[in-house]
Amino acid sequence: MSKKKIQDRVSRTGEGAESQGGKGGGISRRGFLKLGAIGGCAAACSAATNASAGQSFGGWPDSYGMLTDFTKCVGCRSCEEACNKENGLPEPGRPFDDEGVFNEERKPSASAYTVVNRHENPENPDRPIYRKIQCNHCLEPACATACPIHAYTKTPEGAVIYDKDLCFGCRYCMIACPFYMPAYDYGSAFDPKIVKCVMCHDRIREGRAPACAEACPTGAVTFGKRDRLLRMARHRIEAEPERYINHIYGEHEAGGTSWLYLSGVPFTELGFPEGVPNRPMIELTRNYLDSVPMVFTVWPAIFGLVYGAMRSKEKQQEEPETDVQSQERGQDA
Ligand code: SF4
Ligand code: SF4
Ligand code: SF4
Repeated sequence: MSKKKIQDRVSRTGEGAESQGGKGGGISRRGFLKLGAIGGCAAACSAATNASAGQSFGGWPDSYGMLTDFTKCVGCRSCEEACNKENGLPEPGRPFDDEGVFNEERKPSASAYTVVNRHENPENPDRPIYRKIQCNHCLEPACATACPIHAYTKTPEGAVIYDKDLCFGCRYCMIACPFYMPAYDYGSAFDPKIVKCVMCHDRIREGRAPACAEACPTGAVTFGKRDRLLRMARHRIEAEPERYINHIYGEHEAGGTSWLYLSGVPFTELGFPEGVPNRPMIELTRNYLDSVPMVFTVWPAIFGLVYGAMRSKEKQQEEPETDVQSQERGQDA
């Protein structure tokens, strides 16, 4: 969407960039170093491993998150464009300023890790509601529990990332995710893999805000510490109860998610799944996997482990030898 069009929409809706996530809510280097210390300490507890292994894990302390406020979104799709660029995804078939895409409900895919959909506003038909969608970065991710090869990691920063080189395309994570977020990349029949938003984990580690938050011109997406975002969300609801419903989506759903949401209408009217329990999906996933016959669980898991070991070996062979390794080899000879 052109800058002029975005400005028009922003001024029409009265939104400003006062709470722009990328800048105002960003993470300072000092904050990041402090986080690193906490993360390092917590890492000693092997909590990430627990998340992958299916043991209960209460979420990383002091982690980051994102707050999407649908009442501030103008549907400009700058976030989509920034995400595609950041992740090196292909140009979409239709340009980012083509509003025709709003005529259909879209889902994140291998070529778009986030999408914005338009919904009718029951209270004001002239002002539709726009919903940005991407992985919610659950505090206790079901995708990680379901993955037989532990390709997923819940990082201390809050992002749920994955090792695409390990993924062998079993798609357990797609089944386990309560929000249907992992997408399947059909690009290569011989190298299938899962793709999804990784909360711009590399940028966060560099002390920068995720690309979509930085690109949002209205402050509809705010990046910051999850605790602070929850306080911010509560404050907004209290300050303008006529604008928001009294619900911060993601505070408790699925045991809590790093991505939080505010809305002026019930979330189910915007396509959020109904009946997501307020406890970690890990427990349900584990129960589900326990109830599935062995042929569907053990064999893929064994296959996955073998495949992972092979990929890891291949990777080692591909990696150039370091000076230290070269010296060690010389000493052994
Ligand atoms: S939303 Fe789905 S894919 Fe994302 S972390 Fe949660 S379970 Fe995993
Ligand atoms: S956090 Fe990064 S990867 Fe996720 S939707 Fe935003 S720009 Fe895309
Ligand atoms: S979240 Fe921000 S960048 Fe994305 S469509 Fe809404 S207003 Fe535009």
